[in-house]
Amino acid sequence: METADKNLIFLSLGSNIAPRQQYVSKSIHLLKENFPDRFSVSSLYLTEPFQNQPQQAYINCAVRCQTHLQPEEVLDVITEIEHRVGRKRNGVKWESRIIDIDILLWGVEFIELPRLTIPHYDLPNRDFFLIPLLELDNALVYPGSGLALSDLLGKIPHSLRTHPVRIAADDQAVPSTY
Ligand code: ATP
Ligand code: CA
Ligand code: CA
Repeated sequence: METADKNLIFLSLGSNIAPRQQYVSKSIHLLKENFPDRFSVSSLYLTEPFQNQPQQAYINCAVRCQTHLQPEEVLDVITEIEHRVGRKRNGVKWESRIIDIDILLWGVEFIELPRLTIPHYDLPNRDFFLIPLLELDNALVYPGSGLALSDLLGKIPHSLRTHPVRIAADDQAVPSTY
């Protein structure tokens, strides 16, 4: 926990429906409006679909910010942002999406609620989560275990890798830092 009432949190963004970069950019701007404190965003990465789903490639990035909100309140804010950017859900797992925003880390806390599991349940297996996170803070550790996220990255099986490639952000649309 950063301070008594404010938590440093890390989010992941992903889009694989054109125009992907615009959807990611709009989401970043809305996130910054809602969570201006200590706001920082990673580079954008182009990644192959997870587990070889027959889909278009994704653009992914990570955001760090600080908030006094409760975890479920943050989930409500990011769900509203997904909705405003244009995400429509039809209940199919891992379907292509205009924008997906997940909460990856909440300080060093574990949170288990009916609608929320933090750290994200699959954080150790997803290079498209870990690589942007490590760009924001290469000293991050997995809560409770003391395991460096950089070590977890090396342990991801080849079959799960999505090979994130850092792409040149459009500086006008998506500044790499705010
Ligand atoms: P995955 O969870 O495997 O990344 P997904 O992001 O496509 O898949 P969604 O349909 O976006 O899955 O989310 C399903 C539900 O996951 C959400 O309604 C939310 O309540 C829940 N959820 C649990 N933990 C988290 C978290 N850490 N961040 C965001 N949503 C979460
Ligand atoms: Ca997700
Ligand atoms: Ca999600």
